[in-house]
Amino acid sequence: MSIIPTTPHAQYEREKFRRNSHFPELWLKLDEVKDPEIPVLSLWDMGILKDIHKESNNITVTITPTYSGCPAMDVITEDIQKAFELDNNNDIYKCVVKIELSPAWTTDWMTEKGRNQLRGYGIAPPNDVVNGELEELTSDTQVLCPHCHSKNTHMVSEFGSTACKALFQCNDCSEPFDLFKHI
Ligand SMILES: [Zn+2]
Repeated sequence: MSIIPTTPHAQYEREKFRRNSHFPELWLKLDEVKDPEIPVLSLWDMGILKDIHKESNNITVTITPTYSGCPAMDVITEDIQKAFELDNNNDIYKCVVKIELSPAWTTDWMTEKGRNQLRGYGIAPPNDVVNGELEELTSDTQVLCPHCHSKNTHMVSEFGSTACKALFQCNDCSEPFDLFKHI
């Protein structure tokens, strides 16, 4: 079994969509807006940010919340609007945030950079499951330790700090860590 985590195809599609946008500077601007739940990740890297469109002075930002992220939507909306307000000195932008619920957000939309940032934050991204099914965690499931990268780990509890995470512990460095479950 390979221990090199694979990159979901959906990520390439997202990168391509962003590259083809006519408003690259607006995407860059929103890279400064972080996910309120995991503040090291930008909305883009978390996979929440779907589209940005500008027509004259009107900006429309489309986002798809994570399933647990609904209470944070007001904060995200405000942060997005603030980012554009701060950005313009002379023009007055009107920024509308549109919420798109379908297709539902999936952890496959997280970027590679986002996954690395999660590891740095001490959370294993979903595709770091190296032994067992992504969808069904069992006592045999092993996940790469975000601290020492050992795969010699075991599940402590199916639920970690939130329902979307499971609690694991590393048998080598003995550090506990959360696995962000595949959604
Ligand atoms: Zn470890």
